[in-house]
Amino acid sequence: MNFIDSHTHLDFAEFDHDRKEVLDRAAKNHVSDIVISGTTAKRWPLISQLACENCSPKCHAAYGLHPMFMNEHKDEDIAALKKILTSKKAVAVAEIGLDFFIPNPDRDAQIKLFVAQLDIARQMNLPVIIHARKSQDIVLKYLRRFPDLRGSMHSFSGSEQQAKQFIDLGFYLGFGGPITYTRATRLRKLVSNLPLDTMLIETDSPDQSDSKHQGKRNEPAYLPNVAVTVALLRDISVEEVAQATSDNARILFKL
Ligand SMILES: [Zn+2]
Repeated sequence: MNFIDSHTHLDFAEFDHDRKEVLDRAAKNHVSDIVISGTTAKRWPLISQLACENCSPKCHAAYGLHPMFMNEHKDEDIAALKKILTSKKAVAVAEIGLDFFIPNPDRDAQIKLFVAQLDIARQMNLPVIIHARKSQDIVLKYLRRFPDLRGSMHSFSGSEQQAKQFIDLGFYLGFGGPITYTRATRLRKLVSNLPLDTMLIETDSPDQSDSKHQGKRNEPAYLPNVAVTVALLRDISVEEVAQATSDNARILFKL
């Protein structure tokens, strides 16, 4: 049995002092693969360094410009993104999307950046990992303009109807720490009802810790807690969750 962490930020400074131990703990807890998603151009080189196909766990790179870091992005970053995706192996264009939850979002600038990156993903024939807060319907609207694109809605938190619309577009839905909190009744109901072949699991490390590690740094070694929650909510075995979500990640990211 093994688990695939479909979305992390292992490049973040929170891991600078003990990244090797973090990876060792993940391997010990049967995490076979980790996807590291980009946020800003400045951090891409570290992701390239961390990518490793022969390591345990295997670390896979994804590059992109995150909507919560609009102040750090420059116009030339789009050209730089194309360049790094051509020169380095990547499993996705990520993390991209729309965040209208932050105070005073520049919606137009975010949409422009998002669409430019969807277009790059299409050109490069790569899947996308999408961040959407208070923006699910607008994300859907733009994804419909790229019918060949596939991807994951990371830390999905939309309605059942929105879930169905993303699935109809060929997207997977990613679930992490938030589903482990009993108060997340709507999200947990969704996890119990969705087809298993549409689901991915993730930690979003160092963020979104599960209920056992509330307030602490999250790390890929905690991914089994997410899988156990999915299994409990669906009344199936953890092995079945591990198998299905790993198969889904392997298909989407061509691992
Ligand atoms: Zn993230």
